[in-house]
Amino acid sequence: MKKLKDLELKGERVLIRMDYNVPIQHGLVVDDFRIRASLPTIKYCLNAGASLVLISHLGRPKGAIVPDMSLDPVAFALENILGTEVMFSNDCISDDAVELSQQMQSGEVHLLENLRFYKGETDNDLGFSWNLSRHADIFINDAFGTSHRAHASNVGITEHINNAAVGLLIEKEMKYLCETLDNPPEPTVLILGGAKISDKISLINNMMNKVNVILIGGGMAFTFLKAQGYNVGLSLVDDLYLKEADDILKYAKKNQIKIVLPHDLVCSTNISSDVPWRVSTLDKLRSDEAGFDIGPETAVKFELIISKANTIIWNGPLGVSEIPSFSTGTQYIGSIVKDRTNKGAISIIGGGDTVSSLKQSGIQEGFTHISTGGGASLQLLSGKILPAFEALKIYA
Ligand code: AMP
Repeated sequence: MKKLKDLELKGERVLIRMDYNVPIQHGLVVDDFRIRASLPTIKYCLNAGASLVLISHLGRPKGAIVPDMSLDPVAFALENILGTEVMFSNDCISDDAVELSQQMQSGEVHLLENLRFYKGETDNDLGFSWNLSRHADIFINDAFGTSHRAHASNVGITEHINNAAVGLLIEKEMKYLCETLDNPPEPTVLILGGAKISDKISLINNMMNKVNVILIGGGMAFTFLKAQGYNVGLSLVDDLYLKEADDILKYAKKNQIKIVLPHDLVCSTNISSDVPWRVSTLDKLRSDEAGFDIGPETAVKFELIISKANTIIWNGPLGVSEIPSFSTGTQYIGSIVKDRTNKGAISIIGGGDTVSSLKQSGIQEGFTHISTGGGASLQLLSGKILPAFEALKIYA
């Protein structure tokens, strides 16, 4: 795998695939987490004397020009954060845009318009990736969040530009999601939540032998509970996965891997913010109720385990954290993980919903690593091959 430090960048034009898929409201970037995460690579390249052409997607315009999904506001935000002019082209492959790139001097930065305004991007069209390659002689992929997709800007492009490497953000993601987890300081605790058990089964199977304890909350816990014969009322259950859940529980028992499931719940008859809720143990859950958060006894049980952990990996909210009444479990465990990190544990938080729910609770710092990619981190932790990594011969 080639890294940034392996490249000679002085006087070179570098095309960098970034992940600037950021929320925009009224023409302004409202969360610049991903822009800030791209700064180490940008600064490294600029200090090394390169000029930069930055490319990214934003949202899902599906091959059409959607003005609300323009990257123009990102150019403005980046310029403010960087303190350097950022030139912006309102397309990706016109002769004008390519000429602008070709005339750039060392230290200059040029951002192109949303890649997904072109159908060729998601189709991994070779013509489109060839057109992108006209902008530069070196390619760097630093868009971890799209690494699980095979698109023109992260896979096809490597057919046209041989001199290619990963950026510092991908290096950092790999450091925590791959290297650290190959040999994590024990005890290692995996916290899982979220709604879709289908997404997390391969993660559990891949991580099971690397962790000591698995704490399961969120909607996915109920498939495990039902597999064990518990009453789950109207809680979310994916019947297709009952057998796999049961196999996992049996394997864990045989191999002394502890799996802890909720014992009590915050439950209600309806998933909305204005219905009454109550705390109940599983055995007292009524048949017209569903569990929407872990209960206080479960939270304390989780806390006792987390407060002895030296490595904590967390993917998925422990309840319906978008609704305040059901967000306490995620919020509480967030603060426990943060405390433990403060005491020296390594904490690795998967992207996507876990990060948004922690942010909603005002907890966004104090962890060792917060991944910038929800789907990509899930796939990496599941032991799957990411197409963008394969294109850069990371697995070679
Ligand atoms: P996922 O994409 O699988 O990580 O799921 C994230 C979603 O899971 C969030 O939108 C949560 O609202 C939802 N979720 C978490 N806990 C529950 C639960 N007990 N019942 C239903 N949905 C849940």
